[in-house]
Amino acid sequence: MIGCDALRQIKESNVSGIDALKSALPRASWTEDQDIIAPWLTEWRDKYEGQTPIMVMPESVDETAKIVSIARENSLKLVPQGGNTGLVGGQTPQGEILVSTRRMSAIRDVNTVTNTMIAEAGATLFTVQERAEKHNRKFPLSLASEGSCTIGGNLSTNAGGVHVLKYGTTKDLVLGIEAVLPNGEVFDGLTDLRKDNTGYDLSRLFLGAEGTLGIITAASLKLFPKSGFIQRAMVGLKTAKDAVALLDRCRHGDSLTMFEVMPKIGLDLVTTHIPNQTDPFQSEHQWFALIDWEADTELDGNRIAETILSPAMESGLIQDAVIAQSSQQAARLLSLRENMSAAQKHNGASIKQDITLPIDKIADFLEVADKAVDQVVPNCRPVAFGHFGDGNIHYNIAQPIGSNRDDFLSQWDLISETVFDIVGEMGGSISAEHGIGIMKRETLANRAHPTKMALMRAVKQAIDPDNIMNPRVLI
Ligand SMILES: Cc1cc2nc3c(=O)[nH]c(=O)nc-3n(C[C@H](O)[C@H](O)[C@H](O)COP(=O)(O)OP(=O)(O)OC[C@H]3O[C@@H](n4cnc5c(N)ncnc54)[C@H](O)[C@@H]3O)c2cc1C
Repeated sequence: MIGCDALRQIKESNVSGIDALKSALPRASWTEDQDIIAPWLTEWRDKYEGQTPIMVMPESVDETAKIVSIARENSLKLVPQGGNTGLVGGQTPQGEILVSTRRMSAIRDVNTVTNTMIAEAGATLFTVQERAEKHNRKFPLSLASEGSCTIGGNLSTNAGGVHVLKYGTTKDLVLGIEAVLPNGEVFDGLTDLRKDNTGYDLSRLFLGAEGTLGIITAASLKLFPKSGFIQRAMVGLKTAKDAVALLDRCRHGDSLTMFEVMPKIGLDLVTTHIPNQTDPFQSEHQWFALIDWEADTELDGNRIAETILSPAMESGLIQDAVIAQSSQQAARLLSLRENMSAAQKHNGASIKQDITLPIDKIADFLEVADKAVDQVVPNCRPVAFGHFGDGNIHYNIAQPIGSNRDDFLSQWDLISETVFDIVGEMGGSISAEHGIGIMKRETLANRAHPTKMALMRAVKQAIDPDNIMNPRVLI
């Protein structure tokens, strides 16, 4: 919890700006009550704890513009926040004003001719999915945090999730955005046009910008036809290399939508620590893949799974397979994967990396990285899982059994740099889908090409010369 003295100092140095905000906004649009604010100052991994003198909660784009204008006039710094599920500390204020977008959550329009939806930034991903479904459409972004994360957060982190191999990341699912710029003006890039070659694609600048260029207030999202049937299967494998080989066999037209991989240590954590989770296999396997195919009918789905998995089993590539026979069984299989992060909280401290690699390098990476991190912290336990279908691995390293938690966590930077060196040598990226935030800001500055950093700084300087938007994040 924040010290009272620190908070008082922050308040005193910003008193006129904070007073200006309070008198300009309706009473429901701000709070200084630290008990109400507290849950929004800690995050999922308990890695960052924030502080803020005031949380503002605009209900509309006009109110957001008013907040930003007052902030600019009074030299206040702002941190936008949606669902607070970000994993790199970008949404946690350290004395800045916290701008919560959660009250701006309307679905302004659904158009089934243009196949688009205009959603406000504070709408949760789940609300957007549900609304699409009501119109017999699909919004294919899917993350384990979808009940809490918001569309504004998804856009600002360019979230990935489990369907990237077919539908791409959030960037691929957006036609344009509306945002309040650091000077208080509103940029209206909402459009349902699929073609619009009229210069720079300004909306895209804000995607993955992590709140450093403005506050996204709404977005025009692409909708897709709803799948007739989703066939899910889970298979047991000997090695990560076999998982990558299976991925190639699982591609069947464009029906493959999900290919997630988990190691035995990860599945064991889920079945041990999360209620109602069971290993679907009788015998023991070292690796597991969870696979979805979209099909027109259940019969087609079954046929695709059988056609692909039977020969893979006969050739010894996979050791065992469960083909879901009901929606309940399919949900149970998915929940094993979705609980992977939650289960790791019961496994002592973890040093977590969200990295991406060329898919054909995944198995080599795991072999090299497992040895390298063991050199840094002997007997540490890598739990490598995630979206192998698009090259994204959550390479989480758990503390050695019986070791001291703080001693282990003090190795965070050393382990990370060791992992990033290997990622760099293999042509990967230090951030696949979680972003840079404050966690990887230094690393990005040290490792990104100087031309890229110079361009990013030039964009930031042009749009936010006073550095009022999320000033400690990304660059
Ligand atoms: C259990 C769990 C599973 C997850 N799985 C995945 C996954 O599979 N794939 C994935 O990509 N991520 C995943 N995440 C991370 C997280 O859910 C995503 O990054 C999500 O997009 C964040 O949305 P949010 O609304 O919670 O954003 P927040 O956490 O509130 O903010 C994240 C960043 O976006 C900025 N921001 C938020 N809203 C706005 C806005 N309206 N305008 C400008 N800037 C804004 C913030 O300042 C911050 O920098 C997971 C997280 C958890 C806890």
